Amino acid sequence: AASRGHGAGAVNVQVILRCRPLSKEEVANGVQQVINCNERAREVVVTQNVGGKQLGRSFHFDKVFDPETGQAKIYKMAIAPIVEEVLEGFNCTIFAYGQTGTGKTYTMEGGARNTSEGTDLTDSAGVIPRAIHQIFSILDANEAEYTVKCSFLELYNEETTDLLAVGDAMDQKLKMLEDSGRVVVQVTRWGCMREPGAILQMREDIQESCLQDLNDITGLEEIIVKNKTDIYALLDRGSAKRRTAETLLNKQSSRSHSVFCITVHMREMSPEGEEVIKTGKLYLVDLAGSENVNRSGAVDARAKEAGLINKSLLTLGRVITALVEKTPHVPYRDSKLTRLLRDSLGGRTKTCVIATIAPTVQCQEETLSTLDYAHRAK
Ligand code: ADP
Ligand code: MG
Repeated sequence: AASRGHGAGAVNVQVILRCRPLSKEEVANGVQQVINCNERAREVVVTQNVGGKQLGRSFHFDKVFDPETGQAKIYKMAIAPIVEEVLEGFNCTIFAYGQTGTGKTYTMEGGARNTSEGTDLTDSAGVIPRAIHQIFSILDANEAEYTVKCSFLELYNEETTDLLAVGDAMDQKLKMLEDSGRVVVQVTRWGCMREPGAILQMREDIQESCLQDLNDITGLEEIIVKNKTDIYALLDRGSAKRRTAETLLNKQSSRSHSVFCITVHMREMSPEGEEVIKTGKLYLVDLAGSENVNRSGAVDARAKEAGLINKSLLTLGRVITALVEKTPHVPYRDSKLTRLLRDSLGGRTKTCVIATIAPTVQCQEETLSTLDYAHRAK
């Protein structure tokens, strides 16, 4: 497996920066902008007023996208090559990281999609619908036999909720079962399209040893999608549920992580006439607002909440730093999010962090902390 193109020495973590445009209100209010993006130099400069002097602080990333850059260009330049890897049988993860209101959900899901049109992408479609589109385009062109499965879940307060569950299963929490602390398995229940016995989230190298235990667990299921229309419908259902929860639960979503996962099984014939089976998995993660990392002085439930989110985001930062620096110990186990994503972070996987920022002076402090966090991952 090690010979499959990903050199042992390669660092497969990419960090890109995206600055959103001013909103209509911000323009109307004449809000001051403090961010300068230079795509060619891959540099972002934050202008700070220190003692009456204008000082610029500069950060470099693998790619930098200014406020004018649209969804299609970002996808083509940063994401499409990663999705190609998934179809070669690799596991990959794409994160959106940033302060609430900087465009994480816009980047991952995008603006309104014309669902009645079925499978067409609009200009504002985000990474998830574009990835779905690319995956099915390649699979259909290849004439390979394939199965595509997906799941969509939310991690809040270290608890997992299935965003796609319907009917009675609506509020069921996913169970995370762990084999002596090493493996995370998700148990889902579906009202439709069942495939009994399907197992999610297992690392290949330890799959064998755990199969016995897993056979004892009933009801392991994930959803199978036949085409783009199916999977778009699931995406819409899940994001609608997330938005409802946001309204009902007082902006819960700024403190939750959402994880959209696509698994592709492919069966092809090699030119020599041998059967080749490949499995690739893509995680698309809309992280909790990064302002929650630094929040302190909260009380009661909110303190607990803030602490837990702190843990997942901080641990993710440490895991990525450990992967980049190739330290022998990667602290996957220190948070639920990194445990969940473990089979798609590190090793022969590709990871992309899209850090999102706003251009306004009001967001300056949070912007600097986002840039510092994202820069550590480089
Ligand atoms: P977050 O998920 O980080 O809290 P959102 O994705 O909800 O932020 O974005 C906040 C607002 O800004 C939304 O109204 C969104 O449509 C808009 N927005 C964000 N990024 C862009 C962009 N690149 N272009 C146009 N509008 C954007
Ligand atoms: Mg959001």
